[in-house]
Amino acid sequence: MTIMLTSLPYADTALAPVISAATLQTHHGLHHRAYVDNVNAAIKGGPHAIASLATIISAADAVQDHKLFNDAAQAWNHGFYWFSLCAGQQEPDAGLAAAIERDFGSLALLKEELVAQGMAHFGSGWVWLVRRGTALSVEQTHDAASFAVAGPGGDAVPLLVVDLWEHAYYLDYRNVRKNHLKQVIGGHLNWAFASENFARNAAWVYPDFI
Ligand code: MN
Repeated sequence: MTIMLTSLPYADTALAPVISAATLQTHHGLHHRAYVDNVNAAIKGGPHAIASLATIISAADAVQDHKLFNDAAQAWNHGFYWFSLCAGQQEPDAGLAAAIERDFGSLALLKEELVAQGMAHFGSGWVWLVRRGTALSVEQTHDAASFAVAGPGGDAVPLLVVDLWEHAYYLDYRNVRKNHLKQVIGGHLNWAFASENFARNAAWVYPDFI
């Protein structure tokens, strides 16, 4: 068995012009694929050969195997990221909408906070909407760091993520990260997916094997 490259849950033209087909083809077909291929090469014949991706992330972190952790966490983060995006406008369900209003004031203010933290992030990483207990928060992680397994600082559940690595936007926006973030966060976040994650109150499970 090998860890699978998850399929995009939409056509590669579905997010254009905000995220072009060329960006999705490169990002999914080359970047995500490379992380998955690296994980599969690393685990082949070893103790994690039939482990889930989440288990591999935890095990690599525990023994400070940075190479395997980075590849495995990036594989998971990208799988989660594809589902965090969608073609059309969506709204949070009633449960998530109430939590957003309580913790951020409104969905518009939450979107502003996601853009602001995405802009404040130096270098490569991710900006997340997470649930900690009953509270929502916007949090950043650097490089490959992930909320796949409890996440930094404890039992956080990821609801949505936006990729801040330059490969996510450079073909379409060159160096202007802010325009990318405003367009993606403004119109292409999958609030139905976030609502499912909020209601489950447990991390999304990467569909591991092929
Ligand atoms: Mn990426």
